[in-house]
Amino acid sequence: MGATSDYRMETLAVRAGQERSQFGEHSEALYLTSSFVFKSAAQAARRFSGEEEGNVYARFSNPTVSMFEERLAALEGAEDCVATASGMSAIMAVCLAHLKNGDHIVASGSLFGATVQLFNNILSRTGITTTFVSQTDPAAWDAAIRPETKLFFLETPSNPLTEIADIRALTAVARAKGILVVVDNCFCTPILQRPLELGADLVVHSATKYLDGQGRVLGGAVCGARNLTEEVFKYLRTAGPTLSAFNAWVLLKGLETLKIRVEAQSANAAVIAAWLEAHPKVSRVFYPGLPSHPQYELAKTQQKSGGAIVSFEVKGAREQAWQVVDNCHLLSITANLGDTKTTITHPASTTHGRITPEARAAAGISEGLLRIAVGLEAVEDLQADLERGLALI
Ligand SMILES: *Cc1c(COP(=O)(O)O)cnc(C)c1O
Repeated sequence: MGATSDYRMETLAVRAGQERSQFGEHSEALYLTSSFVFKSAAQAARRFSGEEEGNVYARFSNPTVSMFEERLAALEGAEDCVATASGMSAIMAVCLAHLKNGDHIVASGSLFGATVQLFNNILSRTGITTTFVSQTDPAAWDAAIRPETKLFFLETPSNPLTEIADIRALTAVARAKGILVVVDNCFCTPILQRPLELGADLVVHSATKYLDGQGRVLGGAVCGARNLTEEVFKYLRTAGPTLSAFNAWVLLKGLETLKIRVEAQSANAAVIAAWLEAHPKVSRVFYPGLPSHPQYELAKTQQKSGGAIVSFEVKGAREQAWQVVDNCHLLSITANLGDTKTTITHPASTTHGRITPEARAAAGISEGLLRIAVGLEAVEDLQADLERGLALI
């Protein structure tokens, strides 16, 4: 198809990265093979030494996985992409590829729960330490920098309160000190936000969420300049958390509809957020697409819309929030997000249930807070489903 820069996002999502085999298949082929055969001993030697490009073993590369990597790289505007078994393994791979014993991370205090656990309980064992700072205060990031700080890690908008990190401002702070900026772009996807264009060095994804979009498989990815992704590839090739070919094939199909899904789900979310904000049983709505969001103006400069995640506080506490959850016939009660099926979560008793009530309060996660990840159902049906529980408050 030629250079990816010649095409728009819609076209890249459907076409980028496809390599047809000798059979001329129209849909991308699924190569379920763990290893590859060489024409001769000499070719095997050239492939192993890296002198000749080509597939060797599926822990290193697989043609279906390569197609997914190329397509996602095109969408993120990245020189390169390396796929991983899950979002968490993408984050782990970036850290172990680029950091060593004694290095320091400055990270947002509003990260995905497992990322916090990874930094605090696993990476800490290798002598890599992390300081958590406010997502929304670039001066706090600057103040937390030490001589051994090598990496900034952020996720914007955050989960579940949709706080926005100023990617341009944080990148400016980091660049002056040679610190890598890594952005988890799970919530926005490249359809709404392209962190590399805003100055970030690497983007990580949980492909499990919107990139698949239909709740079928786990996957992850790291996108950025080749000199940075190359180190991630070396780690993966040796440590092994690579993406399976089958999952890559599912994710390729997911990417084909990414733009229409994310745009339609965000449009649904915008309607629901405005409706909730006007609802007499709701005290507060957290949605970056609403003018009442404290960082509405900043959000407009770095993401194309508010996205599909809406959080809101009901008037009351756990009992009232659970009433809304338990009266849903349609919304799925699950902590997953990014699916075409709308999901509802009570963060204080699930995703944020293991932290102390004090820490929860400090993080702004109240007992009345609910998070919905809006899908593709008719907005009227979603509203009717939520109204059943809200009417009881
Ligand atoms: C789910 C999620 C992850 C982890 O991804 P897995 O694919 O479940 O390993 C990381 N970051 C964010 C923001 C997520 O929502």
